[in-house]
Amino acid sequence: METVLFPVALVSGLGLIFGLILSYASVKFEVKVDDRIAKVREALPGANCGACGFSGCDNYAEAIVNGAEINRCPVGGPELVAKLSDIMGVENQAGEKMVARVMCQGSWDKVNIKFDYDGIMDCRSAASMSGGPSSCVYGCVGMGSCKKACAFGAITVENGLARIDETKCTGCGKCIAECPKLIIKLVPARSGYSVACSNEEKGAVARKNCKVACIACGKCVKTCPKEAITIVNFKAVIDTAKCENCGECIKVCPTGAIAKYTVLM
Ligand code: SF4
Ligand code: SF4
Repeated sequence: METVLFPVALVSGLGLIFGLILSYASVKFEVKVDDRIAKVREALPGANCGACGFSGCDNYAEAIVNGAEINRCPVGGPELVAKLSDIMGVENQAGEKMVARVMCQGSWDKVNIKFDYDGIMDCRSAASMSGGPSSCVYGCVGMGSCKKACAFGAITVENGLARIDETKCTGCGKCIAECPKLIIKLVPARSGYSVACSNEEKGAVARKNCKVACIACGKCVKTCPKEAITIVNFKAVIDTAKCENCGECIKVCPTGAIAKYTVLM
């Protein structure tokens, strides 16, 4: 009997000792998980687009709790920043809502076509061939590289020209990085007018290549009551900080280079 009881007592005793050691270790070496990570993750939109600079919402949530800025998610916008500032107990760092805008109106019917392009549907590839098929080497190449880059379905390409639905645009800037012509710019969503032309040639050449090019005549500059327009490199540029959306410039533009946009707040 004793020969049976001894091993049983020994195993039970060892089990008790190891159990105590493990419970002590689990308390002593516990890795505390900051419960704010789950709250931040729940607040983030879950788009996993990477526009914040992190590899997804999970990583960004962890980074925020470890000190990253709370205003790097363009998808959530100012409302998200307000929520995150509550969770993190920091000052609201929301900035102005920005949207991407294509500064070109040169669709195939507005420009001259230099050659028929039948290469791969990629703007960089098309642009590497004499600047692309459009007579305006500053304008949209129209192969839709920006459209492919947009995770929010905000871009369509029609008739050789990219257009952005600003109600869907989050201002993440992915399209900007893809455009070989650098014609997509971020502007405040409250901006109602833009000179939608990026041509830097002298007026006569610009107009010869595109019916809606800015010819740098300066009529808008003289007309703007807020002195918000200047001519830079043979094209007009509207300073969105000064512009009050009165629309006087669009009335005097002889080529239609200034475009009107729906103001989004
Ligand atoms: S806006 Fe730029 S990226 Fe988009 S289609 Fe035009 S050239 Fe290509
Ligand atoms: S009036 Fe039109 S064409 Fe003339 S500078 Fe202004 S935007 Fe360009």
